Amino acid sequence: MKKIALHWKILIGMALGVVFGVVLSLIPNGGVFAADYIKPFGTIFINLLKLIAVPLILASLIKGISDLKDISKLSKMGGRTIVTYLLTTLTAVTIGLILVNVIQPGKSISVETREELVLAYASDTQEKQAAAAKQNESGPLQPLVELVPSNIFAAASSNKNMLQIIFFSLIFGVAMILIPEKKAKPVKKFFDSFNDVILKLIDLIMQIAPYGVFALLAALVVEAPSLELFKALALYAFTLLLALGIMICVYILLVRFFTGKNASFFMKGIAPAQLLAFSTSSSAATLPVTMECVEVNLGVDEEVASFVLPIGATINMDGTSVYQGVAAVFIAQAFGLDLSLSAQLGIVFTATLASIGTAAVPSAGIVMLVIVLAQAGIPEAGLALIFAIDRPLDMCRTIVNVTGDAAVSMIVGKSIEKLKD
Ligand code: ASP
Repeated sequence: MKKIALHWKILIGMALGVVFGVVLSLIPNGGVFAADYIKPFGTIFINLLKLIAVPLILASLIKGISDLKDISKLSKMGGRTIVTYLLTTLTAVTIGLILVNVIQPGKSISVETREELVLAYASDTQEKQAAAAKQNESGPLQPLVELVPSNIFAAASSNKNMLQIIFFSLIFGVAMILIPEKKAKPVKKFFDSFNDVILKLIDLIMQIAPYGVFALLAALVVEAPSLELFKALALYAFTLLLALGIMICVYILLVRFFTGKNASFFMKGIAPAQLLAFSTSSSAATLPVTMECVEVNLGVDEEVASFVLPIGATINMDGTSVYQGVAAVFIAQAFGLDLSLSAQLGIVFTATLASIGTAAVPSAGIVMLVIVLAQAGIPEAGLALIFAIDRPLDMCRTIVNVTGDAAVSMIVGKSIEKLKD
């Protein structure tokens, strides 16, 4: 029998998960059954993915950088990566803002619906506000301070510290290039084979991905809010999804223009990572698979992928920045506020920074949205308006986050002749 490709298996797992979730929500106690016996398998799957995030970054980044052999190559690649990431993020917020101003989804929310939503999600809103307040308390240079860990083991003990791990791996890799090759050899050999082991682990974990996404989606469908709320927020969701769709088209065009690869090659190659991004809502959890897709399917050299992708997973979130622009203006519209052009330009700026600061985990975007709202003078209570459908939209924006990273790695790869023809 012909072997079914992994992305098809994942897709089948997702579809069956949705159907199973619908069936469970129709039978009495189905929700309890899902919480007790289905959801844990989804959690185990996500844990497995997160489990290898830190070792993967360490191994692949150190190996990738020490393979470079000279520092000028690194700074060339680094500069191009950061500039391209920034440009795609700015494009993303701008597209979001244009659409939300043209479609004006916030105007369709009646005062009653608005009050109902604010009341229903008041406590969730407070929780996110508190989380955002913590982030905002610190001084302007705090993110820079936090980039440098004081203890590598402490940094490696939490997946939230990805940037610290990246920082350590970068300087470790650079130091390896700077010492004589003969001296660096044993350490290099160790990280090369460590990297191979991690890649094999990803392979193994992906074998159970179809079952993992089945459990994740079944549990999610059972917990989904009522359809009524979906209807009230349909225009907002439509605007956001349209903006996200346009972003995908932008990547396809960029890839075509800069690398000459066509849309189907790109989309087929990155599909398994996109499906996983959708199911897990986390770019960090998806990172191992994104790396595999980009290297194996899209032909980007390991040297480039292992540098560009971990950084992208943490700082390049185009889907999140589209979302922050659309959601902020939507809330302002729903509250009857007219935002001036300068206020909207302010949103472009804060949404770009906020998306860089957003952790690559589920719902992180809504925490950072609090900061965008506060800067633009939009009522933070408005978060409650979008809570009901934030999770499904988070799943979609995570797809864009991951696709953006993949596109940029191809472009950077091509620019330094590290992309297979
Ligand atoms: N879930 C997103 C991600 O991991 C972040 C967000 O909430 O926007 O990429």
